Amino acid sequence: MQAWVVDHPGPVATSSPLRRVQLPEPEPGPGEVRIRVTACGVCRTDLHLAEGDLAPRRDRTVPGHEVVGVVDALGTGTGRFTVGDRIGAAWLRRTCGRCRFCRSGRENLCPDARFTGWDADGGYAELCLVPEAYAYRLPGSLDDVTAAPLLCAGIVGYRALRRAELPPGGRLGIYGFGASAHVVAQVAIAQGATVHVLTRSAAARELALSLGAASAGPADDVPPEALDSAVLFAPAGELVPVAMRALDAGGTLAVAGIHLSDVPALDYDSELFRERQLRSVTANTRADGDEFLHLASTLGVRPRTDPRPLAAADQALEDLAADRIIGAAVLVTE
Ligand SMILES: [Zn+2]
Ligand SMILES: [Zn+2]
Repeated sequence: MQAWVVDHPGPVATSSPLRRVQLPEPEPGPGEVRIRVTACGVCRTDLHLAEGDLAPRRDRTVPGHEVVGVVDALGTGTGRFTVGDRIGAAWLRRTCGRCRFCRSGRENLCPDARFTGWDADGGYAELCLVPEAYAYRLPGSLDDVTAAPLLCAGIVGYRALRRAELPPGGRLGIYGFGASAHVVAQVAIAQGATVHVLTRSAAARELALSLGAASAGPADDVPPEALDSAVLFAPAGELVPVAMRALDAGGTLAVAGIHLSDVPALDYDSELFRERQLRSVTANTRADGDEFLHLASTLGVRPRTDPRPLAAADQALEDLAADRIIGAAVLVTE
């Protein structure tokens, strides 16, 4: 099968960390099903893996963890799906099921968690294996390309929104406006929030306003009103104090990314005191995923997609790194 692997992690603009290869067709192991991939979203985490911001966990791994396709082979001991079912595979690939986090509804914090496209081959390929217990059924209202970005950008973004403790009808600031942020904005707006978007990309600011954001300004702007909650999607640690200053008393900032550049020292009086809270977000639980996919379908959330052929995955990552993608890039197998 055709696939891409991370060969030599490095900057996508000046090196070629991805290599296009032919791999043997993977055979599903016990508890796994095989997906014939039709669409795979391009997530910023793929870029962090390609560029080495996240250290590789094995050699020459196929990236991609927003995988949509059709079940075409079943491993032993499976029974949740049948051949021909349309399913999705996401970032969280496997957890231990026994630790105190797994046993208390926090499997996203499992120290033995494994991730698609990092610990095991992902969806930048024609075929991909997924443990059936960690796969998702996809709402029929979403076509393959539209569903793909929901599997990480959507699910993890939704967890970030919940971690930001946005009150009903509240004022939400969104820093950075890529794939995840523009999905979260749609959820928050549909639920009655006032959303202020702060991002360096003028095209992304235009998209934000077209989706119903109340305001859109540069990343270091002061939003027009104090915020109850904010989510930092840009992997830019220098925006943490900026966003903390924009919070009202009692407000919460959730940092959504898996990788963040250095965070400058916070000024206690203006950036933390008065019960402002700073939180991180780590992956998601399967319950987050099911809840979000149902919500996305009922609220009519639709990511703006930029479909690319699978053969152009390297170009898609370069465009993501250079802020040339509006919404979410999705690789489509021919
Ligand atoms: Zn565990
Ligand atoms: Zn992701």
